[in-house]
Amino acid sequence: NRIIKEQDKEIKNITEISEKDTMLNIYNRTKFIKELENEINRSRRYNHNLSMIMFDIDRFKKINDEYGHYIGDEVLIETVNLVCNEIRETDLFARYGGDELIIMLTETNIKKAMKLAKRLRRKIVNHKFVENIEVTCSFGVAEFNKKENIDTFIKSVDDALYKAKNNGRNCVGKM
Ligand code: GH3
Ligand code: MG
Repeated sequence: NRIIKEQDKEIKNITEISEKDTMLNIYNRTKFIKELENEINRSRRYNHNLSMIMFDIDRFKKINDEYGHYIGDEVLIETVNLVCNEIRETDLFARYGGDELIIMLTETNIKKAMKLAKRLRRKIVNHKFVENIEVTCSFGVAEFNKKENIDTFIKSVDDALYKAKNNGRNCVGKM
């Protein structure tokens, strides 16, 4: 019995490690895609709203170059922690890759998702970061529509983020 319990614990540990980004302690891209696929199916079947926010630190490379990679890591961690405090238990927050972060918002339409993205943008701008570095992020927001699939949905949130980058950064783009 004790051995089975220990094995269960070990399996849980390994599962968590395989689903998470160790530095940021949020989900990784693989887990995100898996959960997004499930959620897309659910939203198709039950007509639920489903939105995503993708965001990315502005000129992060410059922060690394000026302050070093260690401080760069701190900035990324602080950004993630700020966002964690603003979202719901049911929202799935993941590192998409590098400084690109993504949030899946179940039961959420584009209007509410835009509101959240704007609030996150403001939180980050107003936060006192390590070394007093001025950090901003650009955001993309998209809502799932039944005609699309997971790839086109991700592409549309990515396009929305690039719109924000092209609009001068530190803003929210919408598809
Ligand atoms: P922008 O997004 O505004 O277009 O510019 P950027 O400089 O942020 O974008 P770019 O894609 O050119 O560079 C991203 C940088 O993020 C480069 C990479 O070294 C850095 N980066 C990615 N992951 C990490 C990390 O875990 N820690 C640190 N310190 N830097 C990272
Ligand atoms: Mg960036």
